[in-house]
Amino acid sequence: MLASYAAIPPGAPVRLAKRTSNLFRFRDAGARDRARRPAGLDVGALNRVLGVDPDARTAEVQGMTTYEDLVAATLPHGLMPLVVPQLKTITLGGAVTGLGIESSSFRNGLPHESVREIDVLTGAGEVVTARPDNEHRELFRGFPNSYGTLGYAVRLTIDLEPVKPYVHLRHLRFTGADEAMAAFERICADRRYDGEPVDFIDGTVFAPGELYITLAAFTDEAPWTSDYTGRRIYYRSIANNGAAAADDYLTVHDYLWRWDTDWFWCSKALGVQNPLVRSVVPRRYLRSDVYRKAVALDRRYGLSARVARLRGQAPPEPVIQDIEVTADRGAEFLDFFHREIGMAPIWMCPLRLREPEPWPLYPLEYDRLYVNFGFWGGVPSRPDRPEGHHNRLVEAEVSRLGGHKSLYSEAFYDAEEFWRLYNGDAYWRLKRAYDPDERLLDLYAKCVQDR
Ligand SMILES: Cc1cc2nc3c(=O)[nH]c(=O)nc-3n(C[C@H](O)[C@H](O)[C@H](O)COP(=O)(O)OP(=O)(O)OC[C@H]3O[C@@H](n4cnc5c(N)ncnc54)[C@H](O)[C@@H]3O)c2cc1C
Repeated sequence: MLASYAAIPPGAPVRLAKRTSNLFRFRDAGARDRARRPAGLDVGALNRVLGVDPDARTAEVQGMTTYEDLVAATLPHGLMPLVVPQLKTITLGGAVTGLGIESSSFRNGLPHESVREIDVLTGAGEVVTARPDNEHRELFRGFPNSYGTLGYAVRLTIDLEPVKPYVHLRHLRFTGADEAMAAFERICADRRYDGEPVDFIDGTVFAPGELYITLAAFTDEAPWTSDYTGRRIYYRSIANNGAAAADDYLTVHDYLWRWDTDWFWCSKALGVQNPLVRSVVPRRYLRSDVYRKAVALDRRYGLSARVARLRGQAPPEPVIQDIEVTADRGAEFLDFFHREIGMAPIWMCPLRLREPEPWPLYPLEYDRLYVNFGFWGGVPSRPDRPEGHHNRLVEAEVSRLGGHKSLYSEAFYDAEEFWRLYNGDAYWRLKRAYDPDERLLDLYAKCVQDR
């Protein structure tokens, strides 16, 4: 990999040459001038789990290893990473540099908070080991949310935690957002509900008056287990015909990947939730990376946009974002969202930082409960509105509520606001130290200007 990096001509932008991605910035879409595409850094050999230490409860993993492979290596030891992002091909390096979240985040924080050390190939072309207590500690703290603009994670040591074979799920129904946010606060503080421990918690909004919080607890035995990897669809099981509360059981493996089979609910747009289509699609294709490739092809060739135009409609505006606000502002955000964007379902996931020391490029407050809202779809656009109209509304509302937005998708901030939100001072100090010749794009150029 060092040789591949050295072979990229100075001045040529660098990108990772890897087969999967979960970014929703389709840089290649419409790119006609292939010569201007950034040069590929060969990371093909950096996708292995190097070892699992069941006594220390740690794993040593290469930077481009997918969580699917990592979980396959840890579960036989009765262990899992502290946070397993829902999409199987998200990699360790991608989740640490681009952030990640899942239903254990109310007790385990974000994936980067269980990293012990990282080997980083810096923009300067050196490999350094960054730890919380060594001379590269500022890089360690500043790596999360740097999106590969300071360097690439090539090896990480992470913490693991014990699992049980099954997970007991309880879906609780709420008719108002205030009530659901109060329940998140209460249950996340108690870590118990109705006499049973809570190991995982997330939620789904189907309509302004129909919200569910899903609790899950490890268990040694299960009276039955459901299977949502074939004909049955997980997100549809949550509402369970509108029942006030419903139970379910999954193997721990199927729980961790419950959202991947239908990419949350986004597989619907590709037709695979239609029972007839589903009955002929082999299970191995019911995966988020297959759907993402289909969407990437569509974006590249503009197929659905052409269909919309043929029907005399403007192509829908993609509104694909994850944001978070503190739980006490969550209901306000949802009110805004229903009124201005009007898309459902919406995923909800509470999170709390594990320790007080800050992560400068994504400044969340310690000891506050946040709720992440994820929404992934398209809304009708109008030619008289500026590009990204609805995305800009979301950005403005999140800023008004003192929240944050992930940068894996499109962003429309002006430079001044962007650097204020994502701590430009800290970022540029690190950039000067670890990528002094700016061989890698800077964060604004990469995440907003989409270069
Ligand atoms: C629809 C959708 C839903 C999502 N939902 C969730 C969710 O619920 N939970 C969640 O955790 N995340 C979610 N994500 C976000 C996802 O975790 C991030 O996009 C993550 O960065 C993707 O990681 P990847 O390994 O696929 O990296 P890629 O998509 O390949 O790259 C992402 C960025 O990270 C950089 N990068 C990749 N690998 C490394 C490395 N080793 N070192 C340094 N930089 C690197 C790349 O240069 C790029 O800028 C969602 C994304 C989408 C599109």
